[in-house]
Amino acid sequence: MKHRCRYCSKVIDKSNRFCSDQCRKKYDEQERNDQRVIPFFLLGIIAGIVLVLAGSFMVSVFMMKGGVLICALTLMFWPLATPESIAALGYRYTRKIIRIVSLCLMLIILIK
Ligand SMILES: [Zn+2]
Repeated sequence: MKHRCRYCSKVIDKSNRFCSDQCRKKYDEQERNDQRVIPFFLLGIIAGIVLVLAGSFMVSVFMMKGGVLICALTLMFWPLATPESIAALGYRYTRKIIRIVSLCLMLIILIK
């Protein structure tokens, strides 16, 4: 696998983590922001899952859809990725993928 800049995913030398100082600064800045939103992120995901479980228990499609929608919205606002996927794909690219997936999820929920 090619070694990539953790922020912009440009292919770089194996001894570096970033292609430039600028990318390193941006990555550090974003990471600090991400750390701050983790509680909101977890709250959103947990609330969504609880709603899905409650909906399946009460046989309410409306509640289950609501739960999935809350999870998708949480991912849209705070697309937090695992360090592994950031290392493999780069920060910006990973966030884009998470947002696209959550958008697809929302569209499926709203159409179906
Ligand atoms: Zn870079």
